[in-house]
Amino acid sequence: MKLLEHVQKHVATTSLLPAIARNPPLIQHIIATNQNLPEIAPTSMYEYVYGSNGTFVRAKRQGLEAIAPVSYYKAKGLKAISASVQMTYPAVPLMLVEQMLQASCIACDGNNKPVEIVFHLYFENGNWHLAIPEQEQTATSCKPLDNSANSTYSKAIVEIHSHHGMKANFSETDNRDETGFRIYGVIGEIFSKPQIRMRVGIYGHFYEVATTGILELPAQLTDCLEEDW
Ligand SMILES: [Zn+2]
Repeated sequence: MKLLEHVQKHVATTSLLPAIARNPPLIQHIIATNQNLPEIAPTSMYEYVYGSNGTFVRAKRQGLEAIAPVSYYKAKGLKAISASVQMTYPAVPLMLVEQMLQASCIACDGNNKPVEIVFHLYFENGNWHLAIPEQEQTATSCKPLDNSANSTYSKAIVEIHSHHGMKANFSETDNRDETGFRIYGVIGEIFSKPQIRMRVGIYGHFYEVATTGILELPAQLTDCLEEDW
């Protein structure tokens, strides 16, 4: 019996190791000891980093690298981690942000009632592009229909949707829908005092960020985060 257990264990171990080497896990866990953190592995979808001040999550894609807090605690002997969001492209130009605001103001249903609208901003051939994807729209939701690999959804580094007259706060629906890795924004109170709130989303983890360096804001559009502070 003992021999059988040994054989089973041995077989399991030897067959497991090469499989991990061939297919490293999409989610990595890294304990931040006092050396410098390793680069994000190119095979990782995202990585949890455990530091002296909490658990953080990080991810990298072309044009965007982010590390965001998941939960805070104190753990002695580890390195402190700082949140950061780095977009390597220039800020989205004013003209495109103004176009989004205008399109948000005229988005309405058959009864002329305002509906939500979602926009995709992606960087291609040296320029930012604004796309209004085919979408399902209601007074309280908007959802792009195409999430395939070549869609503007997949290419979007920034996704912004409008809450028209309502406040620019991310809703529970937004939390459920915004499951990718990109910068998400919500525009609100667009008919009175337009405001925008942004956050980086890392596969269901969120961290609010200022628009600075991400969007060029027209004078009439307020960044909620600056107002909150
Ligand atoms: Zn929303």
